[in-house]
Amino acid sequence: MEKIIIAIDGYSSTGKSTVARQLANYLNYIYVDSGAMYRAVALFALQNNFLSKDHFDKDLLLSSLPAIKIEFKKENTMDHANIYLNGKNVEKEIRTMYVSDFVSPIATVSEVRKKLVSIQHQMGIKKGIVMDGRDIGTVVFPDAELKIFMTANTHVRTLRRYNELIEKGQKVSYDEIFKNVQKRDLMDTTRVDSPLLKANDAIEVDNSETNREDQFHIILQLAKDRIAKRI
Ligand code: C5P
Repeated sequence: MEKIIIAIDGYSSTGKSTVARQLANYLNYIYVDSGAMYRAVALFALQNNFLSKDHFDKDLLLSSLPAIKIEFKKENTMDHANIYLNGKNVEKEIRTMYVSDFVSPIATVSEVRKKLVSIQHQMGIKKGIVMDGRDIGTVVFPDAELKIFMTANTHVRTLRRYNELIEKGQKVSYDEIFKNVQKRDLMDTTRVDSPLLKANDAIEVDNSETNREDQFHIILQLAKDRIAKRI
């Protein structure tokens, strides 16, 4: 059967990765979490002291870009691939609030975007891929056969992220996550290079009141219809 590219964009914590992963597993496609790649670059900048609360040495980051190696690797026991930064598995580290607070400024840097978009293009060359992010349907794969744009109200998104992090044992407050989600929405939608916006041909899915299961079935049906060229 013909393989397609599925691009899933949307605001922070709308459940993009969950549905993207479910779809990829069901269709036997590759799943790529592009946000993890921006998070890995932010982690690199933090670890090397190019970035802190009141300081960002963009020139140092730019000169180090060629030395940043990002890969996804999947072992048989895993249900999805983990991200590696210069050979080290950083899947856990990139999900902390510490990294979430710094990732959006890093994502405004055009040279960073250029490097990551080029890796993303390579991963999509054979199609059969589900990628989620902010610019997948607009910049990375403007010809993707299926584009989904996910939204949900800010309180619902905050609560979901809060429960997720608490479950992972992280010490976080609802308020700090609410602020982080708002801040990232603002930065992601207003940046000059590749801002988050809905592609003209994207299908909007608001999941404020839909559970994971129902949402998966709605999007899976869209994917099946697109693969069979019914829509
Ligand atoms: O998807 P996630 O919330 O992990 O993404 C983290 C951040 O990475 C986003 O808030 C955004 O600033 C940036 N990002 C981006 N373009 C993408 C994916 C993520 O700018 N394609």
